[in-house]
Amino acid sequence: MTGSGRRLFTAIPDSGRWYMTNLHTSEMLDWLNERDPLKLTGLFRAARACAVEHVGSKVYFRGLIESGNVCEKNCHYCGIRRGNRNFPRYSMTESEILACAREAFEMNYGSVVLQAGERCGPGYSAFIEKIIRGIKTLSGGKIGITLSLGEQSLETYEAWFRAGAHRYLLRIETSNPTLYKNLHPSDHSFEKRLECLRALKSTGYQTGTGVMIGLPGQTCEDLVNDILFFEREDMDMIGMGPYIPHEDAPLPSDGRDIGENFRLGLVMIALARLRLKNVNITAATALQALDPEGREKGVMAGANIIMPNLTPVKYREAYQLYEGKPCLDEDAGESSGGRLDRRIRFAGAQIGYGDWGDSPRFRSRNNGTAGPGKA
Ligand code: SAM
Ligand code: SF4
Repeated sequence: MTGSGRRLFTAIPDSGRWYMTNLHTSEMLDWLNERDPLKLTGLFRAARACAVEHVGSKVYFRGLIESGNVCEKNCHYCGIRRGNRNFPRYSMTESEILACAREAFEMNYGSVVLQAGERCGPGYSAFIEKIIRGIKTLSGGKIGITLSLGEQSLETYEAWFRAGAHRYLLRIETSNPTLYKNLHPSDHSFEKRLECLRALKSTGYQTGTGVMIGLPGQTCEDLVNDILFFEREDMDMIGMGPYIPHEDAPLPSDGRDIGENFRLGLVMIALARLRLKNVNITAATALQALDPEGREKGVMAGANIIMPNLTPVKYREAYQLYEGKPCLDEDAGESSGGRLDRRIRFAGAQIGYGDWGDSPRFRSRNNGTAGPGKA
């Protein structure tokens, strides 16, 4: 069914439920422009049913460790860009990072995500390699490791993969090269980012990408093209979230209503689910910044991954990518443990504790194998 109600729903065999198959480009465009809450509820239900059929009913937690805010890049939209001198820089030590990973292991999360500003060079590469090996050792190989550490050389990607990381997130930010150019200084390159994504995939990582939604100058056609980009590049994981301005970042506002970015964020999750089906999709933290139940709503719109923040509270204030980033003053156990568990269950999903929750798309492409360290 399009936003205006023309298209047929298809039955999920033996389930009594219905969802849309073979979502076309024009229909995606219609849905991005749909504002009727009842119709949108139908879309989200269909996407959740599609998730249950293709990736299962569980939601997987990945403990997020924001290991440092030092960044060599200067993206126009980001609060921790190199040029922002209005906050202190930090780099977590090895023992601090391992303590966070241990916490994730003790809470029976299947995985951690190591995310940071972009840093390159042999010293940093060796440091991260040591951390990856340390996390594997402390968990007896049981914790899965996702990295989100930006553009690196092929050698570095390979070294981190050999050490035991098996997933990597690198957002393309927008699949429109002209818009990409407007969002970044002239020494950042769309082509290089694409090369990195392809290098990650050829190295053997489960590879994830995504975009910011509601960027100044971005159209609904751009967003449809983003989903087609994920499909063309055959991505395993999708991590998208609303763009939220930061007062110390120079990207000018185009006067959009930020609540509109939230609606678009949920619709994009639903459309990506219905179009790509068996990928992992994250309910981004930026959704929670705009609505206290944003991540739960993301799950109800088709996402199956949540990244509870395990970064020590003393560092969180200094990892402000955008205004209003949540969980600044909650301790890790409170913000990511029982309460979140209850809220996800209340939203009707179970949590996949102790399980990596790998992308079924990756598994089907690679004959059931998941990467280093675990079958
Ligand atoms: N430095 C690495 C990189 O850029 O891939 C990883 C960390 S970076 C902070 C993670 C993501 O934050 C980026 O890919 C970007 O999409 C997102 N981000 C940065 N500024 C944002 C903003 N103002 N609103 C929403 N998301 C933002
Ligand atoms: Fe650095 Fe990533 Fe922010 Fe760009 S988005 S400035 S690479 S942390």
